[in-house]
Amino acid sequence: MEAMRQSSTLAKKERSKKLRCKICDKEAIRNTYCKSHHKAYENIIKQYEVWKKALEIPWKEYLSEIAENQLTGEWAKEVARYLVKDGEEQNVT
Ligand SMILES: [Zn+2]
Repeated sequence: MEAMRQSSTLAKKERSKKLRCKICDKEAIRNTYCKSHHKAYENIIKQYEVWKKALEIPWKEYLSEIAENQLTGEWAKEVARYLVKDGEEQNVT
């Protein structure tokens, strides 16, 4: 019930303005991210599947790893940092 109340409050707040990317404040294509950050987010999810198989790394640790990794692109880093900070629970299996 608590969660439902929260999401309706959020919906009301977001209806009053255009959807913005939670990271860079550009126009969002989905609920959360702009085109570039959404693409980076999808890559992060996809890449996690690979890492998890090889390393059995927890989601949060994985995010910290890619946020620090020199080879990670800037978009993906920003998404990773955002997700770490946000502490979002992901149902990636
Ligand atoms: Zn963005």
